[in-house]
This record gives sequence, C-alpha cells and structure tokens, in this order.
Amino acid sequence: MIIIKTKEEIEILREGGKRLATVLYKVKEKVAPGISTKELDLYAEKLIREMGDTPAFLNYRPAGAKTPFPASLCISVNDEVVHGIPNKNRILKEGDIVSLDLGLKHEGLFTDMALTVIIAVPGGKINPTNKKLLDITEKALSVAIDAAQGGNTTGDIGYAVESFVHAQKTKLGIVEVLSGHGVGRAIHEDPYIPNFGKPGKGEKLVPGMVIALEPMLNIGTKNVTLDDDGYTFRTADGKKSAHFEHTVLITEGGPEILTKT
Ligand code: MG
Repeated sequence: MIIIKTKEEIEILREGGKRLATVLYKVKEKVAPGISTKELDLYAEKLIREMGDTPAFLNYRPAGAKTPFPASLCISVNDEVVHGIPNKNRILKEGDIVSLDLGLKHEGLFTDMALTVIIAVPGGKINPTNKKLLDITEKALSVAIDAAQGGNTTGDIGYAVESFVHAQKTKLGIVEVLSGHGVGRAIHEDPYIPNFGKPGKGEKLVPGMVIALEPMLNIGTKNVTLDDDGYTFRTADGKKSAHFEHTVLITEGGPEILTKT
C-alpha cells in the first residue's frame, strides 16, 4: 500500500532529510586512507544520536534476514554494491570506491540517502574509468529525480534511468535485483522503483508520496551475488560498483529532494 504523507509528516521528513544529509556529508569528509569502515560507522551513529535521532539501519531486520543489520551505516567498497557491513579490520586505501548508505529516524519518520566517493590523495591519480562510473551514477540519480513528477509512473522513472545509462558510451550494468522504494513511516515502503522500466507502467506518482531513488551501476555485469553474511551484495564479475540515493517528495510543483542540507 502506498502511503501519502500528511503536511505534518512532510515537515518532519524535511527536517529529518536535512539532518541526514548533514551527517552523511560529515562522514564523507572523514573517508580517507587508513580509516576503518567501523570508525566511519561509529562516527555516523554518534552524529545522529547527538541530534537526538536514531540510526534507521542499526538492528533493522529485513524480511527473510536471519540476523538484524549490525551497524548504522552501510559501507560498500569497490565490488560491493550495497549493504556492506562495517568492520574494524577493513582499512580503506587510496583508489577505493566507497559507497556510504545511511538512514535516519527523526520524530518517528525515516529518510534514506547514499553517495559514493573515490579515495584520492593529494598529487595522486584517479582512475578515469572509476571516475566516470561515479559521474554517470550520480547523473542517473538526477535523471531519476527529474522523472519523479506527479502524474508520471514508477516505470517512467525506471525508463528514464535505463535510457540515460544506455545512451552513455560506457557499457555499465544496471543492478536490477535491488531498487528504489517508498520511505517515511518505514524505511522500506511501497512502491518499489526499479532502475529500469517501461513508460507509463507501474504505480502512478502523486503529490505527498515520498520515495527513495537509488540507481546502482556496475562497470561490468548487472548481476550481483549475496555474501554469506546475508547482507553484502557484490558484483558477480568482481568489477566496481557505485550507488547514489536521495529521499524525494512528490509535489504539485515537481520533485523536492528532502535529503539536502
Ligand atoms: Mg534505500
């Protein structure tokens, strides 16, 4: 069932989204060679709790999961696509592609956001293929948001993303088994919003809907595998992956990004 948010809920989600973006950009600043993914996770949790809010992913148990998610921040490095589990022994290094995915609960309501960075050092070189992967994935998110107009459908969003990615000269794989989703009263709500689709198909978007849009693109195959930890998705061919996400409100006047500072 798709939940249309009330005016009061939208105000709370706007504030929550702003707080979430503030935290995630601070965590992004900390990403550097030598830091462990667990340190980044604990930093994100500390910032969220200092504001009086709650990390949405910590102890979250998706349908079918054997164990709850053990961290606040999902950190997926290189060939890991999403839902990587932070670890004190996972030390980041120059050239790593690091995806940070964070959810926050503010006054009972949820927002969701992700971004990906390449770890660079002053004077170091950035692999142009990796840079392009990030640029195109981030642009794919903009394309998805632009398509999130009242009256459009979830299929229109998927079609827009798919068309955009296929129009690039690269042959990036669009992850199909994971998708965007409604968000607000729960971290995952209806509708599901795949990053591929057919115009006019799927659920109609109406003002008051709040959705998380999140293209995940791979340098190689679109296929992913799930690790034994039950959470970490990685590319089937070991090539690198990127992920960007915003929580977006559908309004009469167009899409409004809620996860912004
Ligand atoms: Mg999400």
